Parts: sequence; C-alpha cells; structure tokens
Amino acid sequence: MTVNYAKKAFISAIMIGDCPKCGSNNTHDCDAKDNTCLTAQQIDDICVGHCDDCDYTWCLECEMELYTTFPCKHWVICDECKGACNFENDISKCSTIKEWQVQEKIEKKSRERK
Ligand SMILES: [Zn+2]
Ligand SMILES: [Zn+2]
Ligand SMILES: [Zn+2]
Ligand SMILES: [Zn+2]
Repeated sequence: MTVNYAKKAFISAIMIGDCPKCGSNNTHDCDAKDNTCLTAQQIDDICVGHCDDCDYTWCLECEMELYTTFPCKHWVICDECKGACNFENDISKCSTIKEWQVQEKIEKKSRERK
C-alpha cells in the first residue's frame, strides 16, 4: 500500500474549523510535536483533526470520521484515480471520494440499525 504524503504541506495551511460532530471550536490537528493532547501524541498525523470536547477524530482533507484506520482511506482511493482526477488539491471534490463517502455512510447506518 503506497500512500502519497506530498500534499501535507498544503494541508497544514488549512484551518481546522469546528468539530463536525458537536460544533465545538476546541479542536486541533494531530501533529504530535505541536500538541500535548494524548490523542495527538498517539495519532501523530497532521491530516487528522481531534475534538477535545467529544473526542471525535476526523480526516481534515475529506472530512470523513476516522476510527482506527490511519492514515485515512482516501489517500489510497485518490492514489488510484490519479490522472483521471483533477482534484488532488481538494479531494473532497473528487467523484471517487464522494462515492466512497456515500457508501461508507450507508454502511455505517446499516451497522447502527442492527
Ligand atoms: Zn466535538
Ligand atoms: Zn485533542
Ligand atoms: Zn480522508
Ligand atoms: Zn481523485
């Protein structure tokens, strides 16, 4: 599995923004050297956001919720559509990523119903 991290410098310039789950602004990226937060120390990935209020973790690039899979699956997915996809700097616009996110949400919902 190859993961392209060349975009990290671009990502680091992005504002973290409010927590997608609870709306708190008590959020930060998970770069271990900039954070004392234990979750950031464990994850040590600048592409991951953490909410200190509700403990939500999510991908700062595609805004998918992350559980235990780091780095985010979108790195692998967009790696495969490279060339066909013109959204490398804003992968949330990539149709392959969008399809995957819709699929993940459907699967998550069906898991919750069981
Ligand atoms: Zn939160
Ligand atoms: Zn934190
Ligand atoms: Zn992602
Ligand atoms: Zn793509």
